[in-house]
Amino acid sequence: MILLLPRLLLPRAVHSPPPSVDTVESRPVGAFKNALLKLKTLPATVVDIHQPAERFRLITLEGEALKKVQWRPGQKIQMRLGGFTARTYTPILWDATEGVTQILTYLHYQMVATTPGTLWAHGVGIGDRCSLSAPRESLNLSALPRPTVFFGDETSIGLARALKATARGFDDMTFVLEVTSPAEARKVLDALNMPNISLVARTRDDAHLSRVEEILQQSLESSATTQFVMSGKARSIQRLTQFLRARNVPASQLNSRAYWTPGKTGLD
Ligand SMILES: Cc1cc2nc3c(=O)[nH]c(=O)nc-3n(C[C@H](O)[C@H](O)[C@H](O)COP(=O)(O)OP(=O)(O)OC[C@H]3O[C@@H](n4cnc5c(N)ncnc54)[C@H](O)[C@@H]3O)c2cc1C
Repeated sequence: MILLLPRLLLPRAVHSPPPSVDTVESRPVGAFKNALLKLKTLPATVVDIHQPAERFRLITLEGEALKKVQWRPGQKIQMRLGGFTARTYTPILWDATEGVTQILTYLHYQMVATTPGTLWAHGVGIGDRCSLSAPRESLNLSALPRPTVFFGDETSIGLARALKATARGFDDMTFVLEVTSPAEARKVLDALNMPNISLVARTRDDAHLSRVEEILQQSLESSATTQFVMSGKARSIQRLTQFLRARNVPASQLNSRAYWTPGKTGLD
């Protein structure tokens, strides 16, 4: 039935009546279809914006073009931000009947927003027109075997929330996120009804990843078949992949996608 986000719990940046939302499973798409989907542009309107914490925006998009679109949890979209500029985000849900989708954007700036994705998410208002690509393959969460350990960061919270739309939901999942502000991240997770998530505060030298490795190790000790889904910062994923490979975890149990890396723009 309908998946309702806890909108009323969220401090609103701006208000409009929340459209109801649902999810639609779809069949897999191949590389060729992915390329075609990348070219297809879906016009939409921003119909709702929440600010669950200072650096986060939960943005609801609606449009005729979003109807009858096939989506499955883990797929990505690109927001077209003018000219050839686009930035990639992960739909939390997609209601193909109502023509509604939702993304959670993290505003990663230091002092002021200067980068296209962050500028857009920071300044966007209800009623703004925008365009996005159709959903395309990224990490396939639909048929994820369990138990699964999910590692990510602020940019991965949308992906984690999308798991709720899978047949097994959050069953037998262990979540651990590296974040700059655990207090802010916790507000967002509470607003999205995601209580059981370990947050590890980033340290300058990445020493905090040792704590993440401990959690991965515990999961390996409890089940050798544990799957791992890793997204977010490229260097963290690389280190944790090495950690797991050194413990003979086969590549078939590793599902990863770098969402950003210092110095590179607009990873897709
Ligand atoms: C498949 C996929 C799905 C994604 N889903 C989401 C999502 O749902 N929500 C979301 O918020 N992001 C998501 N991202 C990440 C997002 O696309 C990037 O963070 C993107 O770089 C933001 O665009 P920008 O214009 O602000 O920065 P860019 O112009 O692309 O980058 C400029 C610089 O900012 C820095 N930077 C970028 N991202 C971060 C960060 N998170 N923290 C610190 N520094 C950073 C890097 O040094 C980069 O060189 C996803 C990325 C991919 C590839």
